[in-house]
Amino acid sequence: MSEHKNTVALANRILFQNGVLDAFGHVSMRNPLNPNEFLLARNMAPAQVTASDILIFNLDGLLVSDSSEKSYLERYIHAAIYSARPEINSVVHSHSPAVVPFTIVPSVRLRPVCHMSGFLRGLVPNFEIRQHAGPGSDLLIRDLYLGNRLAETLGKGAAVLMRGHGFTTCGESVQEAVYRAIYTQNNAQLQAAAMAMGEIVYLTDEEAVAADMANMGQISRAWNFWTIQADF
Ligand SMILES: [Zn+2]
Repeated sequence: MSEHKNTVALANRILFQNGVLDAFGHVSMRNPLNPNEFLLARNMAPAQVTASDILIFNLDGLLVSDSSEKSYLERYIHAAIYSARPEINSVVHSHSPAVVPFTIVPSVRLRPVCHMSGFLRGLVPNFEIRQHAGPGSDLLIRDLYLGNRLAETLGKGAAVLMRGHGFTTCGESVQEAVYRAIYTQNNAQLQAAAMAMGEIVYLTDEEAVAADMANMGQISRAWNFWTIQADF
């Protein structure tokens, strides 16, 4: 288990170093020893997470580890996606300021503009929490009901935007989820820059699928590089 906790701690630091997480946001991993559990840090800034900070939760978002540490309020994001998507083994939730603008301008949709983000093919859904929590919520996914609604909006996709809040992405491995989180943010930066220049030529769905397949074989190269950067 210590190896898996190390991987989650490393993912936290990689995502911090790449600007996807700051004092907030989190990354989790389905427990390889029990698919009905997941590993997630205690309530703390991602940059400071070490293996000893990783706790185990069940798919109701309840703490399994024997610990009195505070948990992240939004752990239900992870619990609900692991319940809904058996093939998913890692989830990243981010408040990236590069992505948030795409959650709050209804006429603009996040779409793949670059071969590195082919996994964003189609229209990335935007979760409107008002439809489920009314007009006065704090926008946080603070219970399993809201987590399940978010997972429904994600559907079979790779990422879901969250209006006025951020985004959540997932993958079949920690490496894939981290890659998708970094390149969701990267695509948002590129798309915003291009929109300021003029009309955009987006990837076709066919290009996005082909690019995504090509990139899947390259993820370990990126992970190894990010590991060296973040291994402090
Ligand atoms: Zn959040």
